[in-house]
Amino acid sequence: MNAMDDGERGKGRIGVMGGTFDPIHYGHLFAAEFARAAIPLDRVVFVPSGSPPHKKYPSMAGAEDRYAMTSLAIRGNPFFEVSRIETDRRGPSYTVDTLSMFRGAMPGAALFLITGLDAALDIPNWYEPLEILSLCTVVVVARPGYVRDKINKLNEALGDSFVALDTELIDISATEIRNRALSGKCIRYMTPDVVCDYITQKKLYSGMEA
Ligand code: ATP
Ligand code: MG
Repeated sequence: MNAMDDGERGKGRIGVMGGTFDPIHYGHLFAAEFARAAIPLDRVVFVPSGSPPHKKYPSMAGAEDRYAMTSLAIRGNPFFEVSRIETDRRGPSYTVDTLSMFRGAMPGAALFLITGLDAALDIPNWYEPLEILSLCTVVVVARPGYVRDKINKLNEALGDSFVALDTELIDISATEIRNRALSGKCIRYMTPDVVCDYITQKKLYSGMEA
């Protein structure tokens, strides 16, 4: 379903889950579902990045493959959808542009950007961070290895823009999945079977350093 063109959908509480999703995995899916239930949100839109400005490595899957894997992974959850907004955009994918487009398409909606703690702590280094924080509330999900207390400092500095959730820790990263695939190790149960099958069929992450 297209998140951008339905008048009825111009309102509500919308979660935006951005990421490279190279590949999408259970850490992402768990984070999105936890945030949806906790905030609560009417729906969560997954936004696979087109050309991420800060990430470059040889084995990166193309934007279409990452979009396809995201679509497959969210199937079956009626609250989840996927957007092509960054897949179709030329040039670098900036979160501020994506949020501005959502805001323009859904002026009455409250936007919640769902991020892991690692990404949340990095937001001050993103393009136009203050504009980002004026467009949304950042919902922060715990991530192994990152200390949540730092969010309080960000809130003190940036005016209570972050809501930290007490989530279980899911110690899965896409980097780990790519490295395992590269060395021929099993990735089953780190990401849905449909994504494992897609990676195998398309021979993603094989033969190139992650
Ligand atoms: P990579 O290892 O390539 O950086 P990743 O697993 O970190 O991949 P991203 O696409 O970079 O995945 O992350 C997208 C968003 O999902 C970020 O906000 C990130 O913090 C969050 N996220 C990723 N994995 C987890 C996890 N296991 N638990 C909670 N949040 C996560
Ligand atoms: Mg990451």
